[in-house]
Amino acid sequence: MVKMLSRTVPQRIGSWFCKSSRQFLQLHGSTNYATRSMSERVDRLRFMQKLKEDESVCQKFISEGYFAVFCNLKPLIGEAGVLWKSYADIIKLLSSFSVDPMRDSIFVTVDEPEESPPKFAINISSDDKAQSKQLEAKVGSILGGRPCSVRKALFILPQDTASVVSTAYSLLQWHSKTQYCSCCGQTTTKDTSGFKRTCTSCSETFYPSIQPIAITLVTNGDQCVLARQPMFPPKMYSALAGFCETGESLAMTVEREVAEEVGLEVDQICYHDSQHWPFPSSGLMLGCFAKLKDGSTDVINIDKAELEDARWVKREDLRRMLADGSASSMPGLVGGPDLYIPPPQAIANKLITSWTFEE
Ligand SMILES: [Zn+2]
Repeated sequence: MVKMLSRTVPQRIGSWFCKSSRQFLQLHGSTNYATRSMSERVDRLRFMQKLKEDESVCQKFISEGYFAVFCNLKPLIGEAGVLWKSYADIIKLLSSFSVDPMRDSIFVTVDEPEESPPKFAINISSDDKAQSKQLEAKVGSILGGRPCSVRKALFILPQDTASVVSTAYSLLQWHSKTQYCSCCGQTTTKDTSGFKRTCTSCSETFYPSIQPIAITLVTNGDQCVLARQPMFPPKMYSALAGFCETGESLAMTVEREVAEEVGLEVDQICYHDSQHWPFPSSGLMLGCFAKLKDGSTDVINIDKAELEDARWVKREDLRRMLADGSASSMPGLVGGPDLYIPPPQAIANKLITSWTFEE
């Protein structure tokens, strides 16, 4: 496990947010701020809204911000986690690349609690695939650290940092795929914060899209269904997941996906928690529990096109396996040695451990 992100950001700015953003909110827009006490959370959200929507405000805070550098959409990771660079560092270190933080960076977040300046991300990439490895080596040698696949980064970084990387990756990927207008085919341009893109010809505006995905733990008494896709690390099993389709409610998606993937009928579907997930592009994982329908078969019949295996696992066996803690080939996985589940950063882990250890 890498060290916490906060250690990589100078502590001198401990009260940065309170000073800068509150002064800012008093001067801009929040006219009733002085007479009405808003919570720090509301302050933070309104400040982030201003950063996203106001070009000049965003430009001001870019010059005070910290930047995560991506190369070919891979975050640069060092011994202490994500390498956060100041604006001055970025200008100096990236002078040999054709990137400009004012023009090319995207706003990602303001930490909570608000202990540091806003965080931005910037991507350096090459259209020449043959040069991608050399580019990654060059960026790594100049900035330190190494470009790491986002999937691996999410498994090894602390949860709060993983969330920032996940958001930044999704936004950077969306910008790289939305270079042209889907209405007229002309080029689009990014606003300063990366909150939207606008067509240079027909002025159509595009906002980052989100794909809702249902992820479901099917239970029947003291056992639950765990499944694995061929792409999973060895011995890793998870809950069942599938995209919501047009016209469906969340419950309809759960019913359909469970039927399609493992041939079971469920009801008593309940929502548990949600999480942004950057694959395959920008997903909103909606975590649910569902119970095997009374009187229906409990015989699993898997869709071989989607799954490699699916099985009923007893709660007592899961408790034993999760307590084992054997090392896996993929850092961060939980369990072992015969079965692993996704790391604590993943909502699948929350669903499985919540059910496993509930009293
Ligand atoms: Zn257009």
